[in-house]
Amino acid sequence: MNNGFDPFDEASLIVAHDMNNAYDAVVPPIVQTSLFTFTDYDDMIASYRGEKIRPIYTRGLNPTVRMFEEMLARLEGAEDAIGFASGMSAISSTVLSFVGPGDRIVAVRHLYPDAFRLFGTFFKRMNIDVTYVDGKDEEAVARALPGAKLLYLESPTSWVMETHDVAALAALAKNHGVITTIDNSWASPIFQQPIALGVDLVIHSASKYLGGHSDVVAGVVAGSKEMIGRIRAEAYPYLGGKLSPFDAWLLIRGMRTLPIRMKAHEQSTIEITKRLQAHEAVETVCYPGLANHLPPGLKGTSGLFSFIFRDGINVRTFSDHLKLFKLGVSWGGHESLIVPGDVVLSQKAQPNSAVAFGISPRSVRLHVGLEGTEALWSDIETAIAAASIG
Ligand SMILES: *Cc1c(COP(=O)(O)O)cnc(C)c1O
Repeated sequence: MNNGFDPFDEASLIVAHDMNNAYDAVVPPIVQTSLFTFTDYDDMIASYRGEKIRPIYTRGLNPTVRMFEEMLARLEGAEDAIGFASGMSAISSTVLSFVGPGDRIVAVRHLYPDAFRLFGTFFKRMNIDVTYVDGKDEEAVARALPGAKLLYLESPTSWVMETHDVAALAALAKNHGVITTIDNSWASPIFQQPIALGVDLVIHSASKYLGGHSDVVAGVVAGSKEMIGRIRAEAYPYLGGKLSPFDAWLLIRGMRTLPIRMKAHEQSTIEITKRLQAHEAVETVCYPGLANHLPPGLKGTSGLFSFIFRDGINVRTFSDHLKLFKLGVSWGGHESLIVPGDVVLSQKAQPNSAVAFGISPRSVRLHVGLEGTEALWSDIETAIAAASIG
C-alpha cells in the first residue's frame, strides 16, 4: 500500500485479463463469491502484506465490481472510481472521508431530500455544520467558502432543476482550498463530466441512469486515485456499504446502452416540456433544456423535470388519470413516472422543509421514459383534460 505501490493498478490488470477473456464470453461472468482462497501460506501472507494484490474478500475487492468501477471512471474521465451499495452510501462515505466533527460543508440549496436529511440528522449530531447557498449566486458562495472543508453541488438541483456554472464554483472552492463534490446522477457522464470542470469527486446514484432498468440500487464515486484511495482505505471497508457483484454486473449491462438511452430521454423530454410550457393549464416548467442555452459544461438534458400547474387543475385527478406515467419514486429507468409535490411535502421523514426542497404543492415531477413521445404526450394531455376543474 506504500512506496508508490498502487493495488488498484494491479486489480485493473486482473479485471482486464481474466474478466474479458473468461470463456471468450462477450458478457463478463458474475464473480458471485464472498471470499477468495489462497494457494498456500506464502500466497496468503504476501497478500496480507500488500506485496501481492488480488481479491481477498468482496467487502474490499471483487473483480465484477472492479470492472464496473473502471468503466464508470473512464466515462467520467476520472483516474479511478469506487462502487457502493446505494447512492446514499456513496454520499455518506465520500463526505465522511473528508469531513469530521467541527468541520463545515457548503451545499447548494434544494438538495436531494435524503442528502439534506443526512446532513440535518447524523451530520448535525456529529457537529458537522452545513451552510446552504443559492448556487446561482456566486458571490454568496464565495462568502460562504472561507473556512469550509467541502463544497457539495448538484447541478441541476433536485425537483426545481436549478443549474449552476459548475466550473466557476469549483474554481472558487479551489481558491479557498475547499474540496468540491457533485451529485451527477441527473446529467449522467454522457451530458456532464464534472472532473473536466474542476470538480474533485463525482457521485452518482447508479440506481438511476447508469443502471437504467430500475432493477438495481447502487452508487459510485469517481475522482483522483489519491482521493478514491482514501475512500477505499477506510469508509469503504469500515462503513461497509459495498457494492454486490450481481448489482455491478447489472450496472455494466445497463451502461452498455447509456449513450443511446440518454439521447432518447432528452429528445422526448424536450418535446414534452415545450408542449407543457405552451399549455394553458401550466404555470412554470422547470427543465434546463427549455433555456436558450445550457449552462457551461452541460452538454445535454435528461428525462427528469417538474412543472407547476395553474389554479384550476386537480393534481390528484391528474395523477390518477395517467396510464403510462406510473406513480412511483426514483427515476432513470425505461419507464415513465410521476411524483406529486404535495405527496413529498407530506412525507413523515425529518428534517422536512418545503423551503429546503423548493417544492410547490401544485407541482409534479415527471420522469420521461422510453415509451415514445407521442404516446406519452397523449397520456399527459388526456389526464390534464380530466383534471380541469370547471
Ligand atoms: C436517488 C438519488 C440519490 C440516492 O440514491 P440511492 O441509490 O437511492 O441511494 C442521490 N441523489 C440523487 C439526485 C438521487 O436522485
